[in-house]
Amino acid sequence: MNREGLPMVLNLIKEYYKGVEDIAPRKTESREFGFGNWDVKIAYRHFSFSGKEALKNYLVANPPPYVSYSAAYYKEPAGRPMEAKGWEGSELVFDLDVTDMNLSCHLVHEKSWVCDNCLESVKQETIKLIEDFLIPDFGFSDKDLEINFSGNRGYHVHVNRDDVLKLDSYARNQITEYIAGTGIEVSDLFPTSGKKSTALIGPKPTDAGWGGKIARNFLKKLNDSTDALAELGIDRTMAKRLYEKRALIEMGINRGNWDMVYIKNKAEFWQKISHVQAIMQSDKIDRNVTKDPSHLIRLPNSIHGETGLIAKKVKSLADLGSFDPMKDAIAFRKRQMTVFANSKYRIIMNGQQFGPYKEKETTVPIYAALYLYLKGLARFVF
Ligand SMILES: [Zn+2]
Repeated sequence: MNREGLPMVLNLIKEYYKGVEDIAPRKTESREFGFGNWDVKIAYRHFSFSGKEALKNYLVANPPPYVSYSAAYYKEPAGRPMEAKGWEGSELVFDLDVTDMNLSCHLVHEKSWVCDNCLESVKQETIKLIEDFLIPDFGFSDKDLEINFSGNRGYHVHVNRDDVLKLDSYARNQITEYIAGTGIEVSDLFPTSGKKSTALIGPKPTDAGWGGKIARNFLKKLNDSTDALAELGIDRTMAKRLYEKRALIEMGINRGNWDMVYIKNKAEFWQKISHVQAIMQSDKIDRNVTKDPSHLIRLPNSIHGETGLIAKKVKSLADLGSFDPMKDAIAFRKRQMTVFANSKYRIIMNGQQFGPYKEKETTVPIYAALYLYLKGLARFVF
């Protein structure tokens, strides 16, 4: 990135913070804050503010490219070292990031780039985390959750309920292990496995917890296609056979009978398939963030210095489905700017396509100019 545009960007960020309303998190006075510069996302930490006005004044006076805050509440949030802060509890936080996912588009673009497929996929994983785990398995409700776009390539889900605040690092780790499916004993899900001349009994789609998830997910793949079954590691010939007999198999699994077609070594077969699914559904969460109660995470509604987008709060789970960060998280709309751009990828912002550009001078809305500039794909033409 060419640095001569940075003072202008900081001016824009300053203007944004002058006008921002919803910037102070719940219990601002109990949080630790950290700020980034253009080189590191958290360059200074152990800051605290008495409330919204103090925080806002600071952000206007020292506009930072990145703002983070603690998921934790402290008696003395500016205290140091950490032990001096007086920990009072932490929200439970989940961090989903495209770079942790294996996506087909990663074969056509570098992992540092974010395309529409990346953004859609990480959004779907976030919905899955909430709808398949946090709500049914942990009993959280929509109102206990806060969902934020990270400002670049992911989402953060915060759980704020009294009974999670005091969970220690061990308990938080247990939660991530459950979600990651670590330690699932597939033999518990298939109690008759290994017993001769009995039908293989397994989980029903209506079961709670992992069993139900595995049954539901398998039925989805089964009814989808031979390809979808092959993605589970089933060889083509067998996948084709299962697909042809899908109606019969589904009928069986709905009643907990996984023995409707002849499969050699059936118990091992289904155990392997179940295990693969557990991993597929759950390896998308940065576990280090969840288990660390003193982690600093992007402040909702702050500006992200790598995109110029807002780390936007999503109003509710119902709104997440239609949330489009490249439209709904745009911070700066009012002007056009001329850039000299060189980008092999296109971006779609606010419904309009920009690029690819081959060393081209072009005038675009300021949000697109900022995005390209901050990603190192353009310089401003003043
Ligand atoms: Zn992509």
